Order: sequence, then C-alpha cells, then structure tokens
Amino acid sequence: MSEAVTSFIRNIEESERQYRICNACRHCEGFCPVWDAMERRNFFDAGDIKFFSYLCHDCRDCFYACPYSEPHEFGLNIPKLNSTIRYQIHSENTWPKAASGIMNRSYLSGAIVFLASLMVLGAIAISTNGYLSLFSYHSTFYDVIPYNIMDDAGLALGFYILGMWIIQGLSYWKSIGGRKRHLFNIRANVISMYEVFSHKWFKAGELGCDYPRETGTRTRMFFHGAMFFGFISAFIATMIAAYLQRFIGVNPPYSYISGPVFFGVLGGALMIIGGSGFLYMKRISDKQKADNRMLKADYLVIYLLVLISITGLATLAIRATSFMGLILVIHLSLVGTLFAMVPFGKMNHIIFRYLSLLKNNLEAGGIGVKMPAPGAESS
Ligand code: SF4
Ligand code: SF4
Repeated sequence: MSEAVTSFIRNIEESERQYRICNACRHCEGFCPVWDAMERRNFFDAGDIKFFSYLCHDCRDCFYACPYSEPHEFGLNIPKLNSTIRYQIHSENTWPKAASGIMNRSYLSGAIVFLASLMVLGAIAISTNGYLSLFSYHSTFYDVIPYNIMDDAGLALGFYILGMWIIQGLSYWKSIGGRKRHLFNIRANVISMYEVFSHKWFKAGELGCDYPRETGTRTRMFFHGAMFFGFISAFIATMIAAYLQRFIGVNPPYSYISGPVFFGVLGGALMIIGGSGFLYMKRISDKQKADNRMLKADYLVIYLLVLISITGLATLAIRATSFMGLILVIHLSLVGTLFAMVPFGKMNHIIFRYLSLLKNNLEAGGIGVKMPAPGAESS
C-alpha cells in the first residue's frame, strides 16, 4: 500500500474519531452545515468524511468553541483535518491520475505553466507581427495577438475546464454517495445557489468567522465576496466583448464607459481588494489549523488572480503607449496559467464545495439520506 493511501486511511480514521466525539456533543450546531449533515448519520464512512470536509468553510469557530481542542487529550482540530481531507479529495479526483502530484508542487507547476504560456504567446506575437509588436504602439490588442488565436484559445480553455469539471465532479459525487439523477433536483440546486451567492455559511450563524484570529468577524466573507463577484464581473466583461465582436461586429478598443471596460475594471478592482485582503489574512492566520499543501495551493490561486487583475487594469491604463504589447502578453500568460491549472489546484473547490452543498440540501429535503432523520422520507 502506498504512503499516500496509508496516510489517507489514517486521516479518515482520525476524522471519524473526532466526528464521533462531536456527534455526541453537538455544541457547535449552527456554525455550519457539517453539524446537520452529521446528525443525519449514526456512523461515518470515508464518503461522509469527504462530504463533511467540503461542507466546512474553515471558519474555525468550532476549534475555539471546543473544550476538547488541542492541547486537550482528545486533541480535536476539525478545521485542520478538514483541510487535509480537502487536499486529499483534490488528489484523489484528479484526472488523469498521473497529474495528481501537480497540486503538491503548486508553485513549481504554476511557474512552469506561466513560463510555457509566456514563451508560446511571445512567439505568436513575434511571428505574427514582428519583434517590435511587443514594444510599439498599437491601436488594438489584436495587433499583438491575432483575434482568431485569442478566440480559439479562450474557447479551448473553456471546454477543457468544463470537461475536466464534469469528469472530476462526477468522480467526487460518486465518492460521497451521490446519485446522478439527484444532480438536477431543482429545489436543492436553487437553495445551494442561494447559499453560494449570499455567502450564507461565511456568516457562521451570526457569530462570524474566527478567522484569521479568535474573534468573530465578517471580514473573510467580505474579501471572499469581493473575489467571487469580481471574478463574475470580469467574466461578464469577457462575455459582452465576445458578443460585441462575434454578433455585432464591434471590435476593441472600447470606450471607458462601455460594458467590457466597466465590468472589467469593476471585476479587476474587486479581485485586487479581495485577493490582497485574503493574502493578509492568510499571512497572520494560525497555520496549525490548515494543511500546508492546501495553503500553498490557496496562495497560488490568489496570487494569480491579483496579478491577472493588476496586469489587466495596466493593459487598459497604458493601451495608448508602446508598453501595451508586452503587458498584454504577460496578462494573457497569467490568465492561461490560471485556467490551465484549474483542474489541478484550488479552483476546483468551486465544484467540490457546490456538490457538497447540493448533497446537504438534497438530504435536508429527505433525498438520498443514509439514515433518515425523523419524519424525512428517503428516496
Ligand atoms: S468541536 Fe468540540 S464543542 Fe464542537 S461539537 Fe465537536 S466536540 Fe463539541
Ligand atoms: S471550521 Fe467552521 S465551517 Fe469548518 S467544521 Fe468547524 S464550524 Fe464548520
């Protein structure tokens, strides 16, 4: 048995031990959906432990509220265990399996993909428009990287992520005991979407997250919200630009009050605020309550999002100067790195967390419950 498998089994067993204590205590009920999901079970298998770990939003309230937390002899540290199990979920559901080590070497992998993207895009810019295209004034981005190349690469990356998410998501769904036919339950999907957009569980009841320190605040919710809505805003900007070009025939540069520029600037600014806040909170947070490998993957994604936002705004600010070509190539290389790394890094938390919320809401409605709660009807 490999060391990775042995350590996975050890962590699952340790999680079971800790959750059995919690299930007898239940003091932390209301902090997050983990406790309701736990109450529906009389025993926990590996699938349940994985399901719980992605219902956990790492608020850390249970650690500080618990009289049995480390250094008590019971040695409870639910946030850290969940962080470790989440890391293992990423490795376990990576496809192809040979790529499962990428997340363990987040920084190195990110640097290699970035340099490769930079070389490819630099070569495209130079071979298409000559060496000077990187250092001279252009009236449009497409004088640096041709429109059809940008368009094809964007579409290819979009389908690549969608395909990988379907493969990895189905693998995770099966591992937590989900049934395929339940994936499209409208009620559970609507509630889960509401929870995602409202950041409901970042409130940890009304107490707020004990993150980065033992003081309940909504700061983490605010910064996560800034990154989340910033990302959506940047996506809307890209979609509007694609629509204008494909269907209306209006090409960039767009005016400062146009849809692509407005949503792009808003998204970039929000991601810089959210990302910087997250980086600061992570720096001062207690590292004993997180898995170090997961932390590195977190840092990589946040750095990439902040750098993408800074270079994106810089591209706009200096679009009338001779530096635009160079900054654009760096910006697109960072974007390519973020998207190429999605299936092998922290960004996959989007799909795993959503599926855990979905399963929780299905079970709350009496669907797919292993040990039916009183009054609930199992399907
Ligand atoms: S974390 Fe501690 S206080 Fe909270 S439910 Fe578990 S045992 Fe009880
Ligand atoms: S750290 Fe917060 S979100 Fe995670 S299990 Fe504990 S209370 Fe729930």
